[in-house]
Amino acid sequence: MVLDSLGGSLRGALKKIASASRIDKQVVDEAVREIQRALLQADVNVKLVMNLSNRIRDRALSEKPAPGMNPREHVINIVYQELINLVGKSSPVTLEKQTIMLVGLQGSGKTTTAAKLATFFQRKGLRSAVVCADTFRAGAFDQLKALCEKQGVFFYGEKGNPDAPAVARRGLEASRKYDIVIVDTAGRHALEKDLIQEMMDIDAVVAADHKLLVMDAALGQQASEQAKAFNKAVGITGVIITKLDGTAKGGGAMSAVAETNSSVAFIGVGETPNDLERFEADRFISRLLG
Ligand code: GDP
Repeated sequence: MVLDSLGGSLRGALKKIASASRIDKQVVDEAVREIQRALLQADVNVKLVMNLSNRIRDRALSEKPAPGMNPREHVINIVYQELINLVGKSSPVTLEKQTIMLVGLQGSGKTTTAAKLATFFQRKGLRSAVVCADTFRAGAFDQLKALCEKQGVFFYGEKGNPDAPAVARRGLEASRKYDIVIVDTAGRHALEKDLIQEMMDIDAVVAADHKLLVMDAALGQQASEQAKAFNKAVGITGVIITKLDGTAKGGGAMSAVAETNSSVAFIGVGETPNDLERFEADRFISRLLG
């Protein structure tokens, strides 16, 4: 799991700083090299790792510690801050009436995430509905319907109707009295023209307040290309990284978020409807560094 393996290596680097008799260029360089290794192993983009390393090195050797902080604490604090910068700010999620459209490739975890999101908002006291506009994957309808029923979430879908934009339109009408409407769209195995066109057609009908890209944490370096293509097609407003519980990587997806100037809204950490967490950069890094 990314939190375990990356966290372990990063903690090792911080321990070296904490136990150094004095902070000098050699100690900082060694710690930075260890941080680099850990991040690259987790699939973080090389350019981002280099930028982060340079910033840690420059700041550690040039900035004066804040009053009351010793030089070791000062450098550890810089590492924390730069890691938080690397994963970026969280996408804002308001608890207001809104429509959310989910996009992503098949298998990324979209369907599961639709039910998780509805559950998240229900627990905040907002009445949620899910519209199944994934008319491509056989089984998506039954899977989503069953998940929603179990969670007491209103479900709309039209089994066997391939006209996704029409299903989305009727789904929105049927969900009008709900606070949160989540529209699940179809994925494909790859970013094909069909998928892009259908997504744009659904987008035109739904005019969602938020368009969240659902991305598998294990995607690695392809994540970037994917995020750019989805962003170009519909203009994503945030990302949900799924399956962070099941991979030692995850850095590829995180890098894609940084490269597209996007931000993470939620992370998926398991298969049940409750395994969704709001993403907060400082909490995420604090947990990583234990
Ligand atoms: P879709 O094709 O994008 O709709 O993907 P699904 O929602 O059907 O998910 C594909 C598989 O990934 C399913 O077996 C899910 O249970 C699993 N999955 C989704 N999110 C997570 C997660 O956060 N953690 C884990 N471990 N599995 C997940």
